Amino acid sequence: MSKPDYQATNLPLWDFLTILASEGVDFLLSGEEDKVPSSSLDYEKTTICLFFSANWCRPCQSFTPKLVQLYNMLRTMGKELEIVFISLDHDEDGFNAHFETMPWLTVPFDVNLHKKLRERFHVVRIPFLVPLNLDGQSVEEDLIGLIEDFGEDAFPFTNKRREELKAIDDSKRQGGKIDQLLARPGRDYVVASDGGKVLVSKLIGKTVGLYFGAHWCPPCRAFTAQLVEAYNQLLSSRGDCFEVVLVSSDRDQKEFDVNISGMPWLALPFEDRTRQDLCRIFNIKAIPALVLIGPDGKPISTNGKNIITLYGAKAFPFTQSSIEEIEESLRKEGDSLPRQIQDIKHQHVLKLDMAKAYVCNYCERLGKFWAFSCDACDYDLHPTCVEEAS
Ligand SMILES: [Zn+2]
Ligand SMILES: [Zn+2]
Repeated sequence: MSKPDYQATNLPLWDFLTILASEGVDFLLSGEEDKVPSSSLDYEKTTICLFFSANWCRPCQSFTPKLVQLYNMLRTMGKELEIVFISLDHDEDGFNAHFETMPWLTVPFDVNLHKKLRERFHVVRIPFLVPLNLDGQSVEEDLIGLIEDFGEDAFPFTNKRREELKAIDDSKRQGGKIDQLLARPGRDYVVASDGGKVLVSKLIGKTVGLYFGAHWCPPCRAFTAQLVEAYNQLLSSRGDCFEVVLVSSDRDQKEFDVNISGMPWLALPFEDRTRQDLCRIFNIKAIPALVLIGPDGKPISTNGKNIITLYGAKAFPFTQSSIEEIEESLRKEGDSLPRQIQDIKHQHVLKLDMAKAYVCNYCERLGKFWAFSCDACDYDLHPTCVEEAS
């Protein structure tokens, strides 16, 4: 085998070819044309990745179609990318079944060869994807997560690209531009429940809630009702200073359509990657979640769900100081009430208590915050519904 000058700078690539040669292999296989000489790849121009995977492995089964889609898309875009499959299958049937689903190259099925490659590239879990033309990143840095997070934006999978993507996320998180958060090259609008399009630029200067939710999630449906109430109250009392944009976690377009049909606000189009980007940028681990963005485009709170659940429209504009004001007036209200009372409607002493939500046993309406409650039985009264026994 000849020794091109990439060997000094790209050691992993050189090791790959050396290991192939040590097993007497000087070619790769493609699905269509059988043997491709391993020296025919353009190692200077092409990003070459080794893909360690197995047919029996469920995470591999679910990741492989995503990688196929990414590979086809990048090649359509004219990117120089090649992937070489290294099998961890137990037998040749498994290998064949798995490779059949892949549009790229593979090394021939050879248990010894696979073992050597696995050891050289420290493969401890699969699926595992590693670029051979590294720009100083360690071999242990797996690309699966990067691709799951960023899709085609991750190309060419280098450390430099990883840093760039992180910087873009950071700048979006710190905010200042709602259009940068919500629009994407080729799409400058969000959608309304009637299917109409609204330009993202119309949201500039408003307080915006990014609502992460899904129709299949019962707590989301409960929160939607609270958010609708606050939204409508603000709309009638203050005009359209507040907008909500659904960032759906629905499972398919049909569910999304049902979800948005019950909402008076806007949504990111279901087919758009921006949904995943926003989940990553704001580190959304559970739904429902509400991220509140101020009129200046900067985030006010990632805990908008609690703010709405507790204080509803009253908390607008949802800033730290508006919430402190509410809490201060609640404190004052509490200070003006007796610690305990004896009401003529109940045989036990009732104690002053703070509750997120309760139903008053006298007027049967919902109550929030201050209540007079019985320790012995499930009995609550609005402070205004108390009639003290003399
Ligand atoms: Zn009451
Ligand atoms: Zn009682």
